[in-house]
Amino acid sequence: MAHTRTPSVCVYCGARPGRDPAYAHEAETLGRTLAEERWRLVYGAGDVGLMGIVARAAQAHGGETFGVIPTHLMNMEVGKRDLTRFVITETMHERKKVMFMNADAVVVLPGGAGTMDEFFEVLTWRQIGLHEKPIFLLNTNGYWNSLLALLDHLIAQGFADSSLKDFLTTCQDVPDLAGALRAALS
Ligand code: AMP
Repeated sequence: MAHTRTPSVCVYCGARPGRDPAYAHEAETLGRTLAEERWRLVYGAGDVGLMGIVARAAQAHGGETFGVIPTHLMNMEVGKRDLTRFVITETMHERKKVMFMNADAVVVLPGGAGTMDEFFEVLTWRQIGLHEKPIFLLNTNGYWNSLLALLDHLIAQGFADSSLKDFLTTCQDVPDLAGALRAALS
């Protein structure tokens, strides 16, 4: 993939930190890695949960950050105004569009229903040929195993083509993910 600007990695992740401390640890490691690799972080501009952890780590290591948040979440998700670029949108749909359009790759960390919504949107868009951006699932301590099993079930029961999982690269930890991103973004 040829780049005329800094490669950008869109990170979808929980607005909460989750129970296993490994989720926060991996989010912190990812933020630092993005900065060290000179990849721009594109994310939902919140200062809460794993979102805040990734962003603060990227900033602490001199990384470029681009956050997009809708007006009505400015208080709930503590809009992080000190990012390199901070955009406020009117709607959730605009937020997702701006994040996606400014990304070269998508990374999904542990998260809740919001993270899954974002994940399924880019996966289904990929399935119907609307984009070719690579999608990486960070499967910290097997967090996404049940999601992967669900995708297998959809395929086994004939509701999805077996290629569905080909659009997805599952990584066990951040070094594994960084290697896969390096290959995809070079
Ligand atoms: P969660 O994984 O539920 O903690 O949410 C992670 C992020 O996804 C948060 O910034 C939420 O605002 C966002 N989110 C939640 N629901 C949606 C949705 N329907 N579309 C887009 N983003 C969402």
